[in-house]
Amino acid sequence: MEDTPEIEQQDNELEAEIKDTDIVFECTNCGKSIAIDYHGAGLSVSCPDCGTSLQVPIPEVLELADLDEIASYESELAQVNEALVAENDTLYAELQETKDALETANTELEELRADKLHLEKQINDLSIAIKLIVQQVTTIEGNIERMKETLKTYTSVKEE
Ligand SMILES: [Zn+2]
Repeated sequence: MEDTPEIEQQDNELEAEIKDTDIVFECTNCGKSIAIDYHGAGLSVSCPDCGTSLQVPIPEVLELADLDEIASYESELAQVNEALVAENDTLYAELQETKDALETANTELEELRADKLHLEKQINDLSIAIKLIVQQVTTIEGNIERMKETLKTYTSVKEE
């Protein structure tokens, strides 16, 4: 249910209570002067005197004062908008800086990962080399043992 604004009767004693924002019009039937809050523009109301159904007129032109108010509001809005754009630029620049810092950190991390892989490979290569050396030492030790045996045999043959 839409609530219809209350009709304010324009009797002489009530005339002082009519607000600047009220719409004042006359009944098309009895000529009664009717004042209604501007929110009632375009709504259907009944004349408080004769009961005729009337449509509250919609004001066609805005008052000069309203236009001044709109102009000042618009300039305020423009200022707020300008401030917002400046704020936005600052935030964007900060965001860009953060993004760059993150990219640098990420690149450094990638480099560290590559270094780690390289070091792991070197450690692996070294341990393989150490195993090979240990095998060679074992082989050499075996050879030395065999040479000793051969020498012992040779010496004992010579002594006989
Ligand atoms: Zn009337």
